[in-house]
Amino acid sequence: MQTSTMISDRTTAIDVSGIRRVFELGAKLSDPINLSIGQPDFPVPDPIKDATIDAIRNDQNGYTLTQGTAPLLARLRQHLADDVGWSLPSEDLDVMVTSGTSGGLLLAFLALLNPGDEAIIGDPYFVVYPAMARMCDAKAVYCDTYPDFRMTAERLEPLISERTKLVLINSPGNPSGVVMSNDDLREVVDLCARRNVMLISDEIYDEFTFDDAREQGKCPSPARMSDQLLLIRGFGKTYGCTGWRLGYAAGPTWLLREMKKLQQYTFVCAPSMAQAGAAAALDVDMDPIVSAYAQRRDLVESVLGDVMDIAHPGGAFYAFAKVPDRLGMTATAFVEQAIERNVLIIPGSVFSRSDTHVRISFATPVEKLQRGLD
Ligand code: PMP
Repeated sequence: MQTSTMISDRTTAIDVSGIRRVFELGAKLSDPINLSIGQPDFPVPDPIKDATIDAIRNDQNGYTLTQGTAPLLARLRQHLADDVGWSLPSEDLDVMVTSGTSGGLLLAFLALLNPGDEAIIGDPYFVVYPAMARMCDAKAVYCDTYPDFRMTAERLEPLISERTKLVLINSPGNPSGVVMSNDDLREVVDLCARRNVMLISDEIYDEFTFDDAREQGKCPSPARMSDQLLLIRGFGKTYGCTGWRLGYAAGPTWLLREMKKLQQYTFVCAPSMAQAGAAAALDVDMDPIVSAYAQRRDLVESVLGDVMDIAHPGGAFYAFAKVPDRLGMTATAFVEQAIERNVLIIPGSVFSRSDTHVRISFATPVEKLQRGLD
């Protein structure tokens, strides 16, 4: 059987070669200094573990309601009211639990995009965005955000066409950690409203916003300016449980209704035991951990700041550093040399159409991070 010809065009069009190459090079190292990791290095806090284990022991192991368990939904409604001022339940607004942030994004893309529609994403971007557009036979339109990695209304507006269905913003951003200001976000909200485009805000790193990028103590969010957008958040990064596959989506009822329908026929529901853990998670104070990550961010900037251009990471756990021009090499060539010196980082070409920067993750203990930076 000609197996390769059986694969759909939308699947073959997705390219994983960039990431695979880094992993292949890294796999040859025995004890690398791994600064390529996209997940936190702290253990899940005990109250969250306990609630999850209790759920399993109490035989809460079956399917949950598609939209999520009642206790978690109640806790999320309260959280949304406290954090962004949305009052739920209402006729106009709804919230659902998803299988990771990725699950929420995929449901949103599937619900909104027809073949040929356009989704505007920032460049650099989180790797799944263009792939998800592909899966919907839609087109990712790239908004060049170099060198400060802000996806501003000014940069976005010329890209909006008749076919634009959605604009996806991600702040704090992967791979840059850059946090957009409330002023920037307000302009994006107004632009999307004016041009009748759906705004999706991927806020997976919202809790991982450092003090200097917070405004009134919080991560800037367009959800405090409008409820005519889709808010997508996750638990994996904030609480160190990326493998539990849990997130949530909140926004207009007309959209959530369709996303729930799609979830019913795909993921069915988010993992039951993780939902029990998440209800406990929202009461855990993560500030000490976030402060420790801010110190690591400071270390990255103090060691590399004089030799590489780095847009200040206001959150997440990445710095996106420019390979110095005087070296006259691509980011991929720079990464190959770093790997020869036992340090794993990721070339910008994995997240971008440019190959000028490298992503350095600081989700690594300080001692190792320091050696890798040196
Ligand atoms: N959005 C961004 C910006 C991310 O960096 C990630 C994970 N690296 C995700 C979404 C996906 O997160 P999850 O594990 O919750 O699916």
